[in-house]
Amino acid sequence: MGLEGVHHVTAITGNAPRNVEFYAGTLGLRLVKKTVNQDDPTVYHLFYADERGSAGADITFFEYPGSPPGRAGDGMVHRVVFRVASEAALDFWADRADGRRTETSTLIRDPDGLCLELIVDTSSDEPLVAEQRAIPPEHALRGFAGVRAYASGPERSAPFLEALEFSPGWEARGQHRGGFYVYDAPPEERGLPGAGTVHHVAWACPLEAHEGWREKVAAAGGRPTPIIDRFYFRSIYFREPSGVLFEIATLGPGFTSDEPLETLGEHLSLPPDFEGLRDELVPRLTPLPNPADWRV
Ligand code: ZN
Repeated sequence: MGLEGVHHVTAITGNAPRNVEFYAGTLGLRLVKKTVNQDDPTVYHLFYADERGSAGADITFFEYPGSPPGRAGDGMVHRVVFRVASEAALDFWADRADGRRTETSTLIRDPDGLCLELIVDTSSDEPLVAEQRAIPPEHALRGFAGVRAYASGPERSAPFLEALEFSPGWEARGQHRGGFYVYDAPPEERGLPGAGTVHHVAWACPLEAHEGWREKVAAAGGRPTPIIDRFYFRSIYFREPSGVLFEIATLGPGFTSDEPLETLGEHLSLPPDFEGLRDELVPRLTPLPNPADWRV
């Protein structure tokens, strides 16, 4: 059994309020967790997903306030691809998000310059949808289709991806979901991390299978970190041979570990280790728009 598709994609924003306006306001995703970067708790880590905060629909952002724009290059994910239900949805989003309609997709730049692509869903995976007042439900995003990365020598990654049970092409597919991982030839310019670039892509696995996947990564020549408890899920990180930072994250415990489903993302959540710092952190964080304004 392969990995259960994309768990989440994490990217960088230089402007958290504008990021909320775009992902919750324009794209209609649900802000399901407002927390801090566990490696630097003075800045946000924002999570947007479907109504239930599901893995498979979860795009997350580290806030680096005022970060200059980066650019994707060799060894970096350069495009995040979401599913929608129909051609009509592609038209709707081209119009609403100022996207560019191609024959088969709609390309959108987020305010930091990150490239998003919407394609018509041909999977039979459960649609992962958020409810938002301005978005007709039939046009809502349905979760990730996959990601595209730049690689100058993608053949280097083939044995590794095979060992991680990606099927040729490449696709990670588990019992419930799948997600693709496609390489494109990189631009000449070197990549530059910064606002609008993807930090890493996480693939999903059941909690009980996590240790096994870690062993598989190590056996394939990857160098996984120890299992890190991210509170909402557990994670390991490693670079695949083309240089892209991968994570394998568990399905669960999930975002309802510390707040009820009804009010997900409305309050600042701090993992237990950071709770004692709340009074110190809150005044240092940028005020954000209230996503409840867009909710159904
Ligand atoms: Zn992650």
